[in-house]
Amino acid sequence: MSVMTDWLLDLLYPPKCVICRRVMDNGSLLCPDCGAKLPRVETDRQKQSLPPLNACISPLYYTGPFREAFLRYKFRGLTVYSRVFGELMADSLRSHMPENLDVITWAPLSRSRKRSRGYDQAELLAAEVAKRTGQKLERLLVKTKNNPAQSGQQSREAREQNVQGVYRQARNLQGEHILLVDDIVTTGATLRSAASVLLEAGASEVTALTLARADQ
Ligand SMILES: [Zn+2]
Repeated sequence: MSVMTDWLLDLLYPPKCVICRRVMDNGSLLCPDCGAKLPRVETDRQKQSLPPLNACISPLYYTGPFREAFLRYKFRGLTVYSRVFGELMADSLRSHMPENLDVITWAPLSRSRKRSRGYDQAELLAAEVAKRTGQKLERLLVKTKNNPAQSGQQSREAREQNVQGVYRQARNLQGEHILLVDDIVTTGATLRSAASVLLEAGASEVTALTLARADQ
């Protein structure tokens, strides 16, 4: 067994709360204390306006110990966290379920980024949401440019520029209502760029669902 695998198993077993890392003996990955303290967005504020999308739905604010847990999920291989995060997203989607949703997709990593990380964190979230809500999951976008991380872009303008033309669509989407999943929404530049490609491919509507929003 490789050193890396040993290290991962140590992180994963026995199952621990994704936030405080307390060992859990009931199979849950979120302890009651951390569950009660999650930075939840009030239900009636979970849906924000984000043209040209219909809306962007997010159950959490990107802050505090949850943010630390998210970074372990995104960058340190703790893919099992997608189960907890996907459940929170599915709950939020059920509260704001768009009418006539046809398919769930996600804002993907580029092929080379996915290869180096080993997984696509938004894809895993989309898969969990699809599984929990019984919706169809399909890869509809391809990321054709390996642009620098949005987190390194200082201004809103730089974030917009950085994601211009980085996606293309996989097929014609005539008349379909797409749910576009991503991890965190900050200015919405990534979601707008991905949604405009889906709309150009004929999608009638695009609604976004993210795990968290960066504004408070
Ligand atoms: Zn905990």
